[in-house]
Amino acid sequence: MPKNEELGAMEADVLVVGAGNAALCAAISASENGARVVMIEAAPEDSRGGNSFFTGGAFRFAFNGIEDILKIFPDISDEERENIDFGTYTEDQYFDDMFNLTQYRTDSDMVEILVKSSFETAQWVHKQGVRLIPGLGRQAYKVDGKFKFWGGLALHISGGGPEMLKALYAKAESHGVRIFYETQAQELLHDDDGVRGVRVRQKGKTRDVGAKAVVLACGSFESNPEMRARYLGPNWDLAKVRGTKFNTGKGIEMATRIGAMPYGHYSGAHSVAWDVSAPPFGDLTIGDQFQKHNYPYGIIVNANGERYVNEGADFHSHTYAKYGGEILKQPGLFAWQIFDQKTLHLLRNEYRIRRITKVTADSHEELAEKLEGVDPNGYLKTIREFNAACPTDIPFDPNIKDGRSTQGLAIDKTNWANPLDAPPYEAFRVTTGVTFTFGGLKIDTNGQVEDTLGSVIPGLFACGEIVGGLFYHNYASGTGLMSGAVFGRLAGRSAAKHIV
Ligand SMILES: Cc1cc2nc3c(=O)[nH]c(=O)nc-3n(C[C@H](O)[C@H](O)[C@H](O)COP(=O)(O)OP(=O)(O)OC[C@H]3O[C@@H](n4cnc5c(N)ncnc54)[C@H](O)[C@@H]3O)c2cc1C
Repeated sequence: MPKNEELGAMEADVLVVGAGNAALCAAISASENGARVVMIEAAPEDSRGGNSFFTGGAFRFAFNGIEDILKIFPDISDEERENIDFGTYTEDQYFDDMFNLTQYRTDSDMVEILVKSSFETAQWVHKQGVRLIPGLGRQAYKVDGKFKFWGGLALHISGGGPEMLKALYAKAESHGVRIFYETQAQELLHDDDGVRGVRVRQKGKTRDVGAKAVVLACGSFESNPEMRARYLGPNWDLAKVRGTKFNTGKGIEMATRIGAMPYGHYSGAHSVAWDVSAPPFGDLTIGDQFQKHNYPYGIIVNANGERYVNEGADFHSHTYAKYGGEILKQPGLFAWQIFDQKTLHLLRNEYRIRRITKVTADSHEELAEKLEGVDPNGYLKTIREFNAACPTDIPFDPNIKDGRSTQGLAIDKTNWANPLDAPPYEAFRVTTGVTFTFGGLKIDTNGQVEDTLGSVIPGLFACGEIVGGLFYHNYASGTGLMSGAVFGRLAGRSAAKHIV
């Protein structure tokens, strides 16, 4: 690693701001295309990696069957080949998910790039040394002795974010990329010819770092409570942050100050049900395990003891990112997820960690008294009505949207509606954990940042969470890492071309 003092004297071809997944993909791609790359990262080295470090490793790409899977997961065993039905996740399905979940608002150019490059990018990521493995348990259950995938997320990154980053850091370093930690970008150096570097704050000292091109890959504004309240609305300042504390919206501020176009869903964010006792920012030793994603197999109640969403509207991977924010609309900003013995075995490992806010009871009357902050009578009324409204003639099947719907409730649960009648009951107290925000900068199809007049800003590129326009209202799990990789590669390649 270089000494910090060297940074002020440096002139990079391409300067990448940030050192998460998008930044590393940009740095590697710029290096592959012949550029000398320097990265600057606000965090110290021991907490590097941004939100990317915290990910469980869901990775969404289009594929047409086992032959495609084998190109990315060549070391599949005979047993796995025999016992897993990967199905397909075609480009059309990916497009449908992106359009449906964003209410047809996703930017058509960006989504085209994302979906059509997703398989090739998965192969590229695999070539960088990142290992992908089947996401059994998270995205597939056993049917007739065989694991069957249901959500389009066949392969996950083995070891999640930490292992992905380890491989990408090693690859970047093998290309000679230099990374400076505890170095926060403050301002873009800019004149009529475009961007020519970045003013940074490095351990209390301000320095100017020259570069022929700058790639902003420094996250969105989810870790900045003032910006959350300003853009997302009341109470969002009180949400917990699932990941890094360093994504404070600085990149968006720097770029818009020199005329970059704000773009996308500024009042929208990805957020999930998150343990109510979790710390204010992500904990590197816990990663994503404070999340509680399996509510489709139980019910969720608020302080009034009332259900407030259709827990079974879709697979969790299609609802979890918008249901997190619903908790902030409830009294006291918390909710309880409740399960009985019939479905506990389906819950992911995140329900079995030690740092968990959980109560158990042998009857609903006992549970009603134990659900902190909840009106017991309201809860008992809800459970009586819910249990009576569950069907008996449609079999429960977690692998498909089984259509096992309650009938006649103010908010029906339209799939997987089982009466909660098999004690002991288990309940988990959650609040909103914000993952990242949807608004960001506008880029063109080369990853170059556009200004408010629709022209590109010469020398300025962006990728990852800082880019707006892909996500509106909702999100399909596994798209964050993929979009970071796709647009990171694109920005790196374009930045390298820009300097010649
Ligand atoms: C708990 C959790 C679980 C998740 N699980 C998944 C999953 O399974 N699959 C998936 O696809 N996505 C997942 N995501 C979302 C995913 O992490 C993000 O979409 C993706 O990692 C964003 O990558 P990025 O490179 O844009 O940002 P980041 O990885 O956050 O990197 C941004 C970097 O910029 C640095 N930075 C910020 N400001 C500055 C500045 N001014 N100067 C210098 N550096 C700066 C930050 O320190 C950080 O290192 C998860 C997120 C969280 C928090």
